[in-house]
Amino acid sequence: MDAKVGVVGVGTMGSMVMWQLARAGITSVIGFEQFNIGHDRSAVGGESRAFRTAYLEGSEYIPLLIDSYQQWRELEQDTNVDLLTLTGGLTIGKSEEITMKNMIQCVHDFDLDHEILDWKQAKTYYPQHMLTSDEIIILDRKSGFLRPELAVLTAARRAEELGAAILRNTPVESIEPHSAGVRVHAGERIYEFEKVVVTAGPWLNRLLPIYNDYFEVNRLLLSWFTSKNIKSFYPDQFPVFVHLTDGIDLFGVPTVDGNTVKIAKVSSGGEGPVANPDAMNRNVQSEDLEQIIQGVKKYLPELIPEPIRVTAYMDGYTKDHHSLAGYVPKQDNLLVFGGFSGHGFKLAPVMGKIALELLKTGSSSYAVQHLDPNRFLE
Ligand SMILES: Cc1cc2nc3c(=O)[nH]c(=O)nc-3n(C[C@H](O)[C@H](O)[C@H](O)COP(=O)(O)OP(=O)(O)OC[C@H]3O[C@@H](n4cnc5c(N)ncnc54)[C@H](O)[C@@H]3O)c2cc1C
Repeated sequence: MDAKVGVVGVGTMGSMVMWQLARAGITSVIGFEQFNIGHDRSAVGGESRAFRTAYLEGSEYIPLLIDSYQQWRELEQDTNVDLLTLTGGLTIGKSEEITMKNMIQCVHDFDLDHEILDWKQAKTYYPQHMLTSDEIIILDRKSGFLRPELAVLTAARRAEELGAAILRNTPVESIEPHSAGVRVHAGERIYEFEKVVVTAGPWLNRLLPIYNDYFEVNRLLLSWFTSKNIKSFYPDQFPVFVHLTDGIDLFGVPTVDGNTVKIAKVSSGGEGPVANPDAMNRNVQSEDLEQIIQGVKKYLPELIPEPIRVTAYMDGYTKDHHSLAGYVPKQDNLLVFGGFSGHGFKLAPVMGKIALELLKTGSSSYAVQHLDPNRFLE
């Protein structure tokens, strides 16, 4: 055996799996990363990721998010690095919309620290947003933004500090489970492990082709705008937000650099499929930006409606937009954490903890039936 556990892909999930294992004393671990740690060629990049506990993607995530919040704070304490800034989070939409009604139900059911503001109150507190009189704002206080590149680097480097190993710029070519463990072929060598966790993000189905029919990669764009009055977009004045409108659904994060504000489209399937993650088109055409520019003009009038920076990333999506988290079907030694479908960053440390539990005991104390890797294949 080269080590007890192999981790294939040290991006968002891989770094958190390694950190959770290392701090639980499991340091006989080798992580493989095809690029450098914290790179921006897949799902990490763009300086911020929104963290919310009041969740549009389903109430089954709320207990996971409450725990994830705690895990982020523990990673910060363990490393003395600030990763999560709370700004509060606004969900803006028409009061009669079913999504808003569900959301209100959710914040009550889970007793989340929140406030519901009517149009007039909201206009006073958040003048940056253009609101209509039929809209309300749900303010979720335990929301804010994470620093994705720093988070991945912090978790991975802490795991190394505690004794784990990471092979950088080492792509894994294939994975071969057998009765006594798993072989990993990488860099002209074969590594032997008791167990392997696949956290390969957009490359997941190359290593696990059983998911070919249930998994695709989507391209996502981020864009940044500036303002004559950038101070009103500082984190203490401009919470992270989602604005659900008739035309385009927007999300945004306050300025991190004191110059630009990140605004992007909320789109359930991203900007379309990517056939080959090695060759994703990073060029952004002007037609890709039309909707976001219109959205900014209409709903955020203090921003100059010309993006001064635009970048493309990608994420792995499953058919039902819930991730795969657990043992690969019919395999006792192979786990998968992938297909986070555009909303996984905030969950990363709790996913690491679930991997730890599954590796140690074979089961998890978290309610993650909706993420069962068997569900498509049974
Ligand atoms: C533009 C954008 C905005 C987003 N916004 C949010 C947000 O606001 N809030 C939120 O919670 N989530 C958000 N998400 C989603 C979140 O970022 C992703 O769901 C999450 O980062 C996915 O993590 P991952 O570990 O599956 O993939 P990754 O972080 O991409 O990690 C996969 C890693 O595996 C490596 N790898 C792959 N194949 C191999 C191989 N064969 N050998 C070695 N290494 C390999 C890759 O190089 C990569 O480092 C966003 C995603 C995008 C793209």
